Order: sequence, then C-alpha cells, then structure tokens
Amino acid sequence: MKNEAQNEKPFIYDFSLEELQDWTKEQGEPAFRAGQIFDWLYVKRVSSFEEMSNLPKPFRMKLEDAFQFVTLSEIAKFESKDGTVKFLFGLHDNHAIETVLMRHNYGNSVCVTTQVGCRIGCTFCASTLGGLKRNLTPGEIVAQVVQCQKLLDPEDQRVSSIVIMGSGEPFENYDATMKFLHNMIHPKGLNIGARHITVSTSGIVPSMYKFADENTQINLAISIHAPNDALRSKLMPVNRRYPFNEVMDAIKYYIEKTGRRVTFEYALIGGVNDRPEHARELADVLQGMLCHVNLIPVNYVPERDYVRTPRDDIFEFQRILQSKNVNATIRREQGHDIAAACGQLRAKHMEATTG
Ligand code: SF4
Repeated sequence: MKNEAQNEKPFIYDFSLEELQDWTKEQGEPAFRAGQIFDWLYVKRVSSFEEMSNLPKPFRMKLEDAFQFVTLSEIAKFESKDGTVKFLFGLHDNHAIETVLMRHNYGNSVCVTTQVGCRIGCTFCASTLGGLKRNLTPGEIVAQVVQCQKLLDPEDQRVSSIVIMGSGEPFENYDATMKFLHNMIHPKGLNIGARHITVSTSGIVPSMYKFADENTQINLAISIHAPNDALRSKLMPVNRRYPFNEVMDAIKYYIEKTGRRVTFEYALIGGVNDRPEHARELADVLQGMLCHVNLIPVNYVPERDYVRTPRDDIFEFQRILQSKNVNATIRREQGHDIAAACGQLRAKHMEATTG
C-alpha cells in the first residue's frame, strides 16, 4: 500500500471508493462503511479520522493505523484583485507545489499540479527550471481541490471545474492523474461533471492514444505553441521525442474516437512564434479540425529572455486564424498581479530556501 511519495502509510485520498470497499471488507466490516468514509472525505471534508463520528471507534483506529491524510501546509497564499487565489503548498517531504483557484462569474475553477517540478523543459516555463523532483500521488492532487473547496465552503460555493494545467506533465504521471479524475467525477466523490474538466498535455503521444481510448467526456488540451516541427522543437524539447506530425495524428485519433473538440494552447512569445506567417501556417494545419485555439500572451519569466507580444499583434494573430475559420480566443489573464504563471511562486520559494 506504500507509494513513491512516502515511506509510511498511504494517503486515504489515494483510494477510490471501490478500493476502500475492498479494504473495509478485508477488515470484516460491511461495504457501506467505505461510502461513509467517502462522505466524510468528499462531502463533509474533514481532516482527521477522529472526526468521522458515525464510524465505530475501533474502526476509526484501524483507519488511523492504515492510512494518513495528505497535509498541505500553506506556505503562502496570494489573492489577486480579480479574486484569483494562488497557493504555495508545502508537502510532507518539504517540496512545494502551486495550486490556483480562479473565480469566474460562471463558477470556480481550480488549476492543479500533478508533479513536483517537470522534466519536459518548455523554454517559456518556470516549472521546469529545477527539473522533475517526483510525481504527486492521486491523493496529493485530490487534496489541492479539496483545500480550495474548503475555502469556498463558507460562501456556499463549489468548485465547478478543474484544469490540469499546473506544474508537471499529467500524462507522465498518467495513472495518478486518472485516479484523481475518477474521484473528482464520481457521484460520491466531488461530483464534478467530466465536461467541466480539462487535461492539458505537452503532447505525450502514447498517453494521448490511451486517453482517447478511455472514452470519457473529459476535455483534452494540447500545448502546441508552434505551427511546425522545427520551431516547436526549439520551444519544446519534447517535440524531438514526439514530433509535431505524430502529435497531430494522435489528436485526430482522439477527435475521431470521442467526437470531442480539442483545445490548442498557443503561448505567444514576442518575435519568436507570434508573426503573421506563424498564424497563417497554424491556420493551414488546423483548418477543418474540430478544435479551438487558446492564445496566451506569455508571462515574463526572468530566467528566459522572452518578451511579450504587443497587444495589436495578439489581435492580428487571432484575426488571421479566424479568417481561415479556425476558432481562436485570447486567454483572459487572471492573477497577473500575483505571479500566477505556472511555477513562478515555487521558483521564487526554491531560490529563497536554497539561498
Ligand atoms: S509548460 Fe507544462 S509541460 Fe512544459 S515545462 Fe511547464 S509544466 Fe512542464
């Protein structure tokens, strides 16, 4: 029952309802006890076994012996003027991760992290600067959403959507990500509609096929960031492992298999991938595909010398795509005043703690 994140007991949030049912049966308890545990975890959102007051005391002690809660200590919490809340959470092994809660007028969205650091090496991203430290367990991903939900509880609001776009490549931590998702959409879990969840990948081709075959309603987004192989390889070293055309083939398979529209994330970097010819080339590649392009003006990462695309050029890029019938929107920036770009807080924290 141990996992790679700890040498001790596994996290209770690592488990699905079905697994907990098996475990309770092994303990000689009725299966409905697992449903009660789930209710305490996902509906009442307690932080200790002791609070599970409708479970017999000896059973609570068994739980205590077998599992532990994920402890996310709040190292820092920043609130933006637009309501975005960015957390820097400390894990039990002193690693730090970022989670963002975004408040929209149509609901609340949480952006979760799936790995401590990242090994993908996208050149515009702060999360990858120290490489990959370790994968998060499913429970450590769950706990990020539960923590945000707890913040909303006093206002009687709920987390209505999730984006897996924080630090890390979710498809390199595939099983944990899928298990996390299972508990998010489970009616007895957080019960968030699959259509309100988006997984974003840098293009890990074998996992993209696997994900297509899962046949879920969960949305898929791909960080594309370039209209061709050569430029994409410069910006995203992962493109050398899984080239542009292979990524496109995997996307076509996903669309065919699921009938779902995919989102292409395109970070606009001044003078690098944001010229009209890039927009035209991208439009030619995507024309006719069931897709949507999300243009993201790149955030300034001090370690890289990328500059922001001027405002008019951003609109021009969008206009070119749309003129070729490729649907494109410009991402509304949230939390810009609190360094909400992926990995920036953690990078600062690492700098401060390592001197
Ligand atoms: S953008 Fe995502 S995949 Fe790329 S380095 Fe950053 S965290 Fe990793």
